[in-house]
Amino acid sequence: MKIKKISLNNKHYYKNLRLKKTINGLGIFAKKNFKKDECILEFIGEIITKYEFDKIKNKKLKKLMDDYSLQIGKNIFLIGTGNNKKEYGDFINHSCDPNSYVYINGNQILLLALRNIKRGEEITYDYSTTMYRDSWSIKCNCQSKNCRGYIKEFKYLPKDIKIKYYKLGILPDYIIKIFFKKDSKNF
Ligand SMILES: [Zn+2]
Repeated sequence: MKIKKISLNNKHYYKNLRLKKTINGLGIFAKKNFKKDECILEFIGEIITKYEFDKIKNKKLKKLMDDYSLQIGKNIFLIGTGNNKKEYGDFINHSCDPNSYVYINGNQILLLALRNIKRGEEITYDYSTTMYRDSWSIKCNCQSKNCRGYIKEFKYLPKDIKIKYYKLGILPDYIIKIFFKKDSKNF
């Protein structure tokens, strides 16, 4: 992933966004126009390793964490802050035709606009772009014309979509390392 210059405006993210009902539960909507590559929000949570995550015995907590986790490295996840306190980042829905993408800058995990976004649009990203874990799959109801039907990890994306995302420069480094190395058998 290329390093991009980002002007951070942390405290003011939420005033630009609105939590609203959608056909798929709650979602986050733009309250202003966003320019391509503009920062929409910062994901907040705790960073844990896959090893630590696997050690959790409480099934309810595990499912909650799993549903609200964001993979940010081959074996690293950002998980919800717990105590039922959810951040706007927890409510960003998936779309097979997304208008934003996850940008990992060290321990800072940001959501940037993939294209210009108009006020009133729902903010979405493609969950598969960050996912390298076989266990997670869910039926997709994103309603986009190119909906793939299921949300699964990156490995299962059609080849043309993988290449499209790669060329757009929106894939995290670990996904590139795993799937785009010359000798990679996964691609
Ligand atoms: Zn879809």
